[in-house]
Amino acid sequence: MNANRWVSRKVVIVGAGAVGSTFAYALAQRGLADEIVLIDPNNELVKGQVLDLAHGLPFLPAVEIREGHKSDYADANVIVITAGAKQRPGESRLDLLKRNAAIIESIVDDIVEQHSQAVIVVVSNPVDVLTYVAYRRSGWPKGRVIGSGTVLDSARLRYLLGQHCAVDVHNVHAYVLGEHGDSEFAAWSMTNLAGIPIAQYCPMCGKCDQWLVERHKIEDAVKKSAYHIIDYKGATYFAVGLALVRIAGAILRNERSVLTVSAVLEGEYGLRGVCLGVPSIIARSGVTSILEAQLPADEMKALLNSASTLQQVIAALEGA
Ligand code: NAD
Repeated sequence: MNANRWVSRKVVIVGAGAVGSTFAYALAQRGLADEIVLIDPNNELVKGQVLDLAHGLPFLPAVEIREGHKSDYADANVIVITAGAKQRPGESRLDLLKRNAAIIESIVDDIVEQHSQAVIVVVSNPVDVLTYVAYRRSGWPKGRVIGSGTVLDSARLRYLLGQHCAVDVHNVHAYVLGEHGDSEFAAWSMTNLAGIPIAQYCPMCGKCDQWLVERHKIEDAVKKSAYHIIDYKGATYFAVGLALVRIAGAILRNERSVLTVSAVLEGEYGLRGVCLGVPSIIARSGVTSILEAQLPADEMKALLNSASTLQQVIAALEGA
């Protein structure tokens, strides 16, 4: 019998706000974890979230859901950081970033102090910069500190393409690469519907006269998705919660799934000293390898632009 079979799969969620609690809710329903632990300095919030989730236990696959402390990092398999401070009135973006970077560093210090062997998944925004902050602070191998990257953005692209083409989203394979933010881009060269490259599919489908224009509109809508949802309801949490289940599941089940997480680059795509969304193989130990697709010149330019945008923010943070 495989001795590992009975080892508990433990996920610690740091930050029990909208994203952390929605992720916990979605994860519990999938039966992927044996223990889900929430940590948040807001005692009342974390108690409320844990009770509300735990009252659903009779309707869930067996799982323990509880409030935790930093000692819980010691035997966690995955630690998902959704902790973040909100912008104060009049606060600059850089000052907010400095406060959030300090929060991430203090959480990472606690994780390292507990000699944790987990994979850290950073979700807090700006996710690529804070993933890099977490990686540098941890001193861990690069694959064990990752960000949620453009996994959510890629899902948004797949959804919009599926709607536009009237094809099941599961037959749409598409990736958004780069920053999780304004400089991200759709890697059209890697996009296919049921294995048919999008460049062949569009003329064959014949639904739109100007499919290059339509594709541009779809890419733009992906970039603006978060702004629209925040305008409508104040925050985004359902789809990101599901994207996190996908990432955590790939780690817990040692899946070797390809996901566009934010990975530390050390020479891949000619880049280093930055984290951004690139197709990466995700297994029990985190990112085991980054897939270096042969991107056409315009997509390579967009990737370099995204990296340069992020490197400027990292430099501003380090110089601040
Ligand atoms: P929220 O304000 O509802 O929750 C944040 C929580 O973090 C709060 O409960 C707060 O008490 C907690 N917190 C603050 N300091 C902490 C610390 N030191 N340790 C533990 N917890 C701490 O915010 P939210 O809507 O849940 O969003 C959380 C973060 O996720 C934000 O940065 C948001 O921008 C980001 N986000 C990322 C994506 C993505 O795709 N990467 C998508 C949506 C949201």
